[in-house]
Amino acid sequence: MLHVMIEGPGQVRVAEAPEPTVPGPGGAVVSVDATAICGSDMHFYDGDIDLGMGIPVGHEFLGTVLEVGPEVKRFRVGDRVLTASVAGCGACDGCATGDPVRCVEGPKVFGSGMLPGGQATAVAVPAADFQLLRIPDGMDDEAALLLTDNLSTGWAGAQRADIPPGGTVVVLGLGAVGLCAVRSALAQGAARVLAVDPVAGRRDRAVDSGAEAVDGPTVEAVLEATGGRGADAVIDAVARDSTLDAALGCVRAGGTVSVIGVHDLEPYPLPALMTLFRSITLRMTTAPVHRTWKELVPLVQHGRLRTDGIFTHEFALADAAVAYAAVAERSAECMKVLLRP
Ligand SMILES: [Zn+2]
Ligand SMILES: [Zn+2]
Repeated sequence: MLHVMIEGPGQVRVAEAPEPTVPGPGGAVVSVDATAICGSDMHFYDGDIDLGMGIPVGHEFLGTVLEVGPEVKRFRVGDRVLTASVAGCGACDGCATGDPVRCVEGPKVFGSGMLPGGQATAVAVPAADFQLLRIPDGMDDEAALLLTDNLSTGWAGAQRADIPPGGTVVVLGLGAVGLCAVRSALAQGAARVLAVDPVAGRRDRAVDSGAEAVDGPTVEAVLEATGGRGADAVIDAVARDSTLDAALGCVRAGGTVSVIGVHDLEPYPLPALMTLFRSITLRMTTAPVHRTWKELVPLVQHGRLRTDGIFTHEFALADAAVAYAAVAERSAECMKVLLRP
């Protein structure tokens, strides 16, 4: 089989690897039909994390079940499935909540060195009954890929922002997850979503999704747009020191900051006194992917939550190096890339 390796900053190689085998009696092997590049894959590409000799990457993928272990009950060979990007044991109290982050064995992420990469022609999937979702009839590959991570992340980030009906929400960072957060916030009852990104074309995409574009210094612009009060909730889909500062600065007193971006490894100097005196709730969330499916699948199927306009490019898996280079430009033209094995 083939899989995509990142071997150093900017170094992407499509390499031969042994065919995967069923990982234990509850596992399955999935033949990949489509996979995607995520913003968090770019931490490896940008060199934010030391990769040693390199790792197989990718955690967003869908495909066809090729083989199942003897204890798999819910899936058969030939089923079309998508996979949650984060995996749990599937058997503990934590996994029973649908949030693998709570798994007592610790969550594992595909393509992070813990599990095989999903940017491949085939992937071994542990605890398949927990980990896989049959792709609903009529759902296209783009929507299904967004249910592996990005839409679940945006949706969960909006839920954890405690958006009051009719409230005003700021979304910082308008990549794929940020756009999903914009749409989720509106679906969850926000009256206004103020969309912040340095790239004008990305703000335009958010406006197409129902947001208002905010330009210039974030805190000042949000205060001006809210009559000096600040936003009821801020969703930070970037999570750099600068966006965390902005989030805490433009949320109203008593409001919520919901962080779904991936910060680097350096500690963040939290302005604790100001956060206390302004009664700000600060939440940080990796997506409870499995738990979101029950809510998101009907919303997507019935057109209440759009999934179009997020994928902008498609490449052959063999051209992964070109695809990564395109994503690395972080332009308005290239938002999210689908790879086809
Ligand atoms: Zn992802
Ligand atoms: Zn578990």
